[in-house]
Amino acid sequence: MPSITTDAELARNVAKVLREAAGLRNTAFQYKNFVVTGIRYGVIADLVDAGRIACSVGTPSSANLPGGSRAVAEYVASPGSRGGHAPDQFILPRSNFGEFIGNERMTIVHEAAHAIHDVFLAMPCLAIEDEATAWLAQAFYLRTSNSSFSLGGLQVNGPLDLALKLADRIMARNPAGLTATVHEAEIMPLKAAVAIDYGFLAGAAGILSVYDGVP
Ligand SMILES: [Zn+2]
Repeated sequence: MPSITTDAELARNVAKVLREAAGLRNTAFQYKNFVVTGIRYGVIADLVDAGRIACSVGTPSSANLPGGSRAVAEYVASPGSRGGHAPDQFILPRSNFGEFIGNERMTIVHEAAHAIHDVFLAMPCLAIEDEATAWLAQAFYLRTSNSSFSLGGLQVNGPLDLALKLADRIMARNPAGLTATVHEAEIMPLKAAVAIDYGFLAGAAGILSVYDGVP
C-alpha cells in the first residue's frame, strides 16, 4: 500500500464538521439510490478517523470547471483503491480548512456527499446526479447549521442557488428528522445548472463518477 498522506489537523477538522452535520435534523434526503443521512455523515467521519479516507492539503485536479467556477476542494474516489492504489481522499486547500469558516464547512459537507456515494452506492453513477445531490447536501447543511455563511457573489440560478431553493421547498413539506424523497421534476433545474457548470453537456452528459467503495 502507498503511504497515506493524511494531514492530522485537517482530518480532525473534517471529522468534526461531519459529526456536526450528522447531528443536524432536516438534512436527510433520497434521490433515486443516492441517500444522504446524518448516520452516513457519521460513517464518513469514522472512516476519516480510522485513516481509511485520507485528508490531504492540495489543489484539486479539477480546479477549473468548464462553466468558469473554481473548485477549491475534491473527493478523489481513486477507483481501484481496493487493489492497493492511491487511497480515497479529501483534497482541501489548508490544514485549518473548515475550522473557522462556515463556507468552508459546507464545502466539506459537499465533498462528504461524494464520499457517501462512494461508500454506500459503491458503483458507477451519473456524474450529473452525483454532483446535484452533493450540492443539495451542502444546501441542507447551510440551512440547518448554526455556522454563519456568506452568500455574497452567489450565482443566481447557479448550482448553490438552485440547491438552496430545492432544499427550502423540501424542508417546508418534509417532517423534521425524516428522510425526504426528492422527485425528478423538482431536481431537474439543479441538474441542468450542474450540467452547464461542469460541462456535462451533449456527449458528456453520460459521464460517470466511478465509485467502488472504501477498502
Ligand atoms: Zn462535487
